[in-house]
Amino acid sequence: MKRWAKNNIEAFELANKYIPGGVSSPVRSFYQVGGVPFFVSRAKSSKIYDIEGKEYIDYVMSWGALILGHSNSDVISAVKEQIYYGTTYGAPTEIEYILAKTISECIPSMEMIRFVNSGTEACMSAVRLARAFTGKSKVIKFEGCYHGHADYFLVSAGSGVANLQVPSSRGVTENLIKDTIVLPFNDVEKFLNTVETEDGISCIIVEPIPANMGVVIPKKGFLETLQRVCKEKNILLIFDEVITGFRFGLCGVQDIIGIKPDITCLGKIIGGGFPLACFGGRRDIMKLLAPLGEVYQAGTLSGNPIAVVAGIKTLELLKKLDYRYLESISVDLVEGIRDILSKKFKNSNTKVVINRFRSLFSVFFSQGESVENFSDVRNSDKGLFSKFFHHLLKNGVFIPPSVFETFFISFSHTRKDIQKTLDVVLSLDF
Ligand code: PLP
Repeated sequence: MKRWAKNNIEAFELANKYIPGGVSSPVRSFYQVGGVPFFVSRAKSSKIYDIEGKEYIDYVMSWGALILGHSNSDVISAVKEQIYYGTTYGAPTEIEYILAKTISECIPSMEMIRFVNSGTEACMSAVRLARAFTGKSKVIKFEGCYHGHADYFLVSAGSGVANLQVPSSRGVTENLIKDTIVLPFNDVEKFLNTVETEDGISCIIVEPIPANMGVVIPKKGFLETLQRVCKEKNILLIFDEVITGFRFGLCGVQDIIGIKPDITCLGKIIGGGFPLACFGGRRDIMKLLAPLGEVYQAGTLSGNPIAVVAGIKTLELLKKLDYRYLESISVDLVEGIRDILSKKFKNSNTKVVINRFRSLFSVFFSQGESVENFSDVRNSDKGLFSKFFHHLLKNGVFIPPSVFETFFISFSHTRKDIQKTLDVVLSLDF
C-alpha cells in the first residue's frame, strides 16, 4: 500500500487536516494519556504494527471485537468466499437466519433478533422498543456505563464521553435528556428510592459487567434487585452485552449470573471484526418491530452478508475453543501486574487496584482500597496511568489509552506475550 507519511507524527499531522482530531473515534487519539497515536499498517494474531514498522502486543483488539486475534485465517477465508458472491444485497439471506439461530441458541433470552451495524444502533433501538412496549418514556441508566452515542445516553457516560469537560455532550439539548435518569452503579438504595418516587419508567439499561469506566464488578444483589423491580413494576430490563456477549463463553454474561433480561444488545464479537451488532429479546416485544409492528427500525447495510459470514465463522471457531485458556492467561497477567506494581507502590498512598471479571480487567492507580463506581474511577490517578501506558507503548505493548477502558485478551495471545508484558511492567520506574 502506498505510504503518505514517513512516520506516526507526520501521519497524525496529515490526518488532522481532514479528520477532526485525526481519528474516526475519539479515544483512538490518545487525548487522555497525551502524545501522538501510532498509525497502523497491519496486524496479525496478537500483534499490531505501525507505519514505522514497530510491533506491539495488542491488548485493545479493536475494543473487544477480535476475540480470535487479528486477521484469523479461517474468518478471512470465509469472508473472501462471500465477497465473491456479493458484498451487499438489500434483500434477505439464509445466513442471517443461521446467525440469528446460533445466537438465540447460545443466549436463550434472545428469542428473536434484529441485526444492525453498531452497538449504538442496537442500544438506541432497544430503548425505542421498550418505550413502545411499555407505553412509558423514562429510561434509567448508570453513571459510567456506555451504550453508544445516541443523545439520551450521553449523560454521565463512560468510555470517551468521560473525557469531556461537560457532563454530557454539547449539542444534546435538555429536552433530549429529560427522560434519562442517571444513577450511580452499585447503589441499591438510590435505585430503590428512585423507582419508588418516579413514575413512567419504561426500561433500565445496564452493562451487567460495566467495562466502559474500566471494569467495575457489580455488588452481590445489585443486578438481582434490578431484575426483581423490573418484574414488579412493568419495567423492561435491557442488558447491554456489546462487550460481554460471547466474551466469557458461548453465551452472554446473563447466562453465567442467571439473570434473564427482556432485551439484550450485542456487538463486537458477533461481527468477527466487521460492523455487525444486534438486539433481541422476548418474542412478544420483538414482534412490535416493523414490518410486524409499528416500531420503526431499519438499515441499508443491516445484516450485511460479509459481516454475517464473519460472525458465523467466529462463533463456529469459538465453539471449538476452551474459554478457560482466556481466563487462565488473564489471571497470570493480572496477578503478575498486581504483584509487580504493589511492590513499587508499597510506600505510597496510591493503591494499585485491578478489577477483573474472568478475562476482562482494568488497572487503576487509586486513592482508596477499591474501585466500585464511576466516581472512584474518576478519582483515580490519571497521571500515573498515562505514565504506565506510555512505558508499555514505548516497549511494544499497546493497552487501551484511557483509564475508562478495559484490557482485551484474545485466543491468539500466548503465554510468551504475557511474560513479555510482565517483563516490560517490571522495568517501569515510577
Ligand atoms: N455498548 C457498549 C457496552 C459498548 O462498549 C459500546 C462501544 O464500545 C457500545 C455500546 C457502542 O457500540 P458501537 O461503538 O459499535 O456503536
